[in-house]
Amino acid sequence: VHGTAGSVVVEQPGLKRATTLRNIMFVTSEVAPWSKTGGLADVLGSLPFALAERGHRVMVVAPRYAPYDGPKDTGARVTLLGHAEVGYFHQQIKGVDFVFVDHPSYPRPGGLYSDANGVYGDNQFRFSLLTLAAMEAPFFLELPVPPQQQDPPRSPTAIAAAEAAAAAAAAAAKAANGSGAATAAAIAEIQAEVAADSSVPRTKYGQDIMFVANDWHTSLIPVYLAAKYRPHGVYGNARAIVAIHNLRHQGVFPPYTYESLGLPPHWYGCLEWQYPPHQRQGSWAEEGRSVNHLKAGLTTADRVVTVSAGYAEEIKTYLGGWGMEGIIAARDPVLNGIVNGIDTDEWNPSIDPHLPANYDMTNFVEGKAKCKMELQRELGLPVNEHIPMVAFIGRLDPQKGADILLEAAQQLLRHNNVQLVCLGSGNKDLEDGLRWLESEFKDRARGWVGFNVPFSHKLTAAADILLMPSRFEPCGLNQLYAMRYGTVPVAHKTGGLRDTVIDFNPWAQEGTGWTYTSCDAQGLLHAVGMALLTYNNHKEDFRKLQLRGMTREASWDGAAQQYEQIIDWAFMDPP
Ligand code: ADP
Repeated sequence: VHGTAGSVVVEQPGLKRATTLRNIMFVTSEVAPWSKTGGLADVLGSLPFALAERGHRVMVVAPRYAPYDGPKDTGARVTLLGHAEVGYFHQQIKGVDFVFVDHPSYPRPGGLYSDANGVYGDNQFRFSLLTLAAMEAPFFLELPVPPQQQDPPRSPTAIAAAEAAAAAAAAAAKAANGSGAATAAAIAEIQAEVAADSSVPRTKYGQDIMFVANDWHTSLIPVYLAAKYRPHGVYGNARAIVAIHNLRHQGVFPPYTYESLGLPPHWYGCLEWQYPPHQRQGSWAEEGRSVNHLKAGLTTADRVVTVSAGYAEEIKTYLGGWGMEGIIAARDPVLNGIVNGIDTDEWNPSIDPHLPANYDMTNFVEGKAKCKMELQRELGLPVNEHIPMVAFIGRLDPQKGADILLEAAQQLLRHNNVQLVCLGSGNKDLEDGLRWLESEFKDRARGWVGFNVPFSHKLTAAADILLMPSRFEPCGLNQLYAMRYGTVPVAHKTGGLRDTVIDFNPWAQEGTGWTYTSCDAQGLLHAVGMALLTYNNHKEDFRKLQLRGMTREASWDGAAQQYEQIIDWAFMDPP
């Protein structure tokens, strides 16, 4: 089965174990729940589990932005780029190795990549360091072999003995704790951990490995493979995939920074990128020269993956390519789109701890009404389950169309009995726009400025309709969460929204939402008007729409099988 137009066909849905087991390493600038600014973190916090469940040995490497509770120091230290010493912290969860690279440049009082003064000046260094630290790890980090990989499986007596030793040590720790001897308690606790761990074999990942780089931050992986490692006879059988979660950010820096990357001089051309005159900004870019990390990754990767088939098509065009369209089109034979799954434990309305009332397919009408009324009370809006509630959740960025939403909102709220609740943070003007909206429509609109995960769950459950007016959207997660919560998406027909929101067809009783093609306030208003009409006047149709969204397959297993297929293809071709 070949992946045409970015799609991969899953031949054996439901097959739980892969036929060929691999060592896979994801390298990422963010991973939920430890660090998150967007969908990238969600993907890295879920896809690895789905692959591990299928039998693969999976490691996720990310920066240690803060002293996280779970991961423990491995004691390993390496000096990279001639001067930077990094450490490695590790925690294995459900068979996945999470490794956090420790370096003083990662923790910052501001955000992960920027603060109020703009993006950090040393991001190029921070993420090249992460990339190299990750690529060194398979040589020396000895990590416990997860249960799905132990061969032969541990005998029940060995497991029982280890568990008994751990329990005894834990009891000793508890007793020592009770006696107030803090040091004794700490020692006993460590002994308990060691006992629990000691009968588990430990091995290195080694050189036979699949690297998955995510976005520009780690996209030099295939370049380091080819330019730094393979000439020395290492990683001969490793492969690298570059996954594009958002093409807008490419890691563009002045040409002279090339020297700091630890690459041989004759590889400069791989990173160099000449901007056409209309895209040149900044003094160093006057002649159009720059180094572009993502461009280098895209040209050297064994395969390129992006987060939906729709986006895979768009990035080959002038409108969606951000200057990379020619390069991506040239890599078309190895380009595929795989729609993200969602974490169906975190986003499950029947067990979601953030909701005032849990619900499932059998009682969602009542459940959602309770959630809505509770939120109305909390936000000081008129409490009435019959007033349709429309929501927006997302970064306040031109990408997400928050400006289009603000323009449309005035007409929407002036002429309809609806409530509009927005949650977002980012661009200052757009944040002010949300505040203005709230002050202008006190009894109809709320604009919550900030990043608030519990609130995003409550709002997703309470709303009847979710707006996604994104100008472009590689995959989009909120429409997937919404559908699972019985909230009907209204979205611009772009990227992953095009692939995941199926238009309502009242005659065939098909579809899960509404999409529109004219990316402006009128397009959005027309589509949301159709949604409101159905909500108000065709209640049974709306209820069925909600149900179809809730039953849509959204787990990660399907996506994991597609990644697996692409990994197999990558290993079929010579490096
Ligand atoms: P992107 O990665 O482009 O920001 P996605 O739709 O892929 O967009 O993922 C966004 C993720 O961030 C979702 O999990 C969404 O719920 C979450 N999110 C965005 N803004 C907020 C916010 N203000 N508060 C809480 N969660 C948010």
